[in-house]
Amino acid sequence: MEKSVNTHSCSIDELKNVRVPLLIFGAGATGEALLQICRLNGIAVTGLCDNSSAKTDTILRDTVIYHPSQLKNLFPEAFFLIGVADIQDIVTQLHTLGYDRWSSCLLLENQNTAGLDWGDRPKDFIDFAINTCLLCHRRYLEPDRLFLRSVDVMVTERCSLRCKDCSNLMQYYQKPRNFELDELYAGLDAMLAAIDEINDCRVIGGEPLMHREVHQVVSHLTANPKVKRVAIYTNGTILPRPEQMEAFRHPKVLFLITDYGPLSKRLTDLVALLQAENITSYVHPGDGWTACSGIGCHNRSAEQLQQIFSVCCARNLLTLCGTKLYRCPFIANAAQLRAIPTRPENYVDLAQGDSVMQRTRISEFIAGTTFFPGCDYCDGRSWTGTPVPAAVQATQPLPYQTCQEQ
Ligand code: SF4
Ligand code: SF4
Repeated sequence: MEKSVNTHSCSIDELKNVRVPLLIFGAGATGEALLQICRLNGIAVTGLCDNSSAKTDTILRDTVIYHPSQLKNLFPEAFFLIGVADIQDIVTQLHTLGYDRWSSCLLLENQNTAGLDWGDRPKDFIDFAINTCLLCHRRYLEPDRLFLRSVDVMVTERCSLRCKDCSNLMQYYQKPRNFELDELYAGLDAMLAAIDEINDCRVIGGEPLMHREVHQVVSHLTANPKVKRVAIYTNGTILPRPEQMEAFRHPKVLFLITDYGPLSKRLTDLVALLQAENITSYVHPGDGWTACSGIGCHNRSAEQLQQIFSVCCARNLLTLCGTKLYRCPFIANAAQLRAIPTRPENYVDLAQGDSVMQRTRISEFIAGTTFFPGCDYCDGRSWTGTPVPAAVQATQPLPYQTCQEQ
């Protein structure tokens, strides 16, 4: 029976035939949905597993969350249901740990998930997280489709705050600038022509509302059927202007507002304004920061670079900077700051070649690398990094070494 279970897209009935401990990889919304569905169908789940060490040995719905490093000792054999959007990373991680039996979360598509229990958590947010996961798993199992889970669209280098540990390196910009609309549209249009679908375009800066024409970028994105959602990430210091509201009222748009306490001085007004305009918004606390914003050449060996890349939680944060598509915000901004050597391996140049060529290049870029040259300038961004207080302000731009080798 075990053989038939290893389809990578198994059904509830097939799961019932699993004869080794069943673990769910991912303790987020999708993992929790899988746990509830298994329970409802009488399937015993031995445990959950999550890369975030903050969750290790905690309990979710009476089920222990293990760290991957604990697995082999506790469960020499196991079957994994994957509830994490970046399924490719998890499959690789499981293989490295010595496990080859796993299934995607696609069984959720055939289950009635409407009645699952989420307490007072926002249902549409949970649905979005689960649907994102489903889309990613479908794409992984249908490699001919080029689906991007999420892309950060950087519209400005300017921010209304200057957090000294900003992981997007805003604290280093001496003369931050807005991206021109032409430049933004050139990058977006080339990327959208090359791919099949983007689940989540995250409009970011710095502070995206510092760009007076950000609403036009938002309209450009919402008008494209390949874009499923447009999320505006803001720090609660600026109110949108009246002429921007029409673009922001689009059903694909939502605001994600980080609450930095007294620094987010327009937070209450912003939430009230968005509610009055019927625009979806969520406020989340600005916590959980780790030290990851230093820039400097480390002269690491290839093995050392592979190691920091393999545990990096930002390595799949696709970031579009003008016409260059990067894999993480560190390299994107370090390149903007001219703090790292220009190396073509660090990005996809969307200004070069046609959409067929771009499609191949993007597919290869997101699928297969063990590190980027730019990683040598990064302190690393692991799940278990050193915590730092959030949003401590610098009074002036922080110094850094510009790179002569451009
Ligand atoms: S608010 Fe702080 S963390 Fe956010 S982009 Fe600005 S400087 Fe960076
Ligand atoms: S530079 Fe490399 S290690 Fe640093 S955040 Fe980006 S992918 Fe991760």
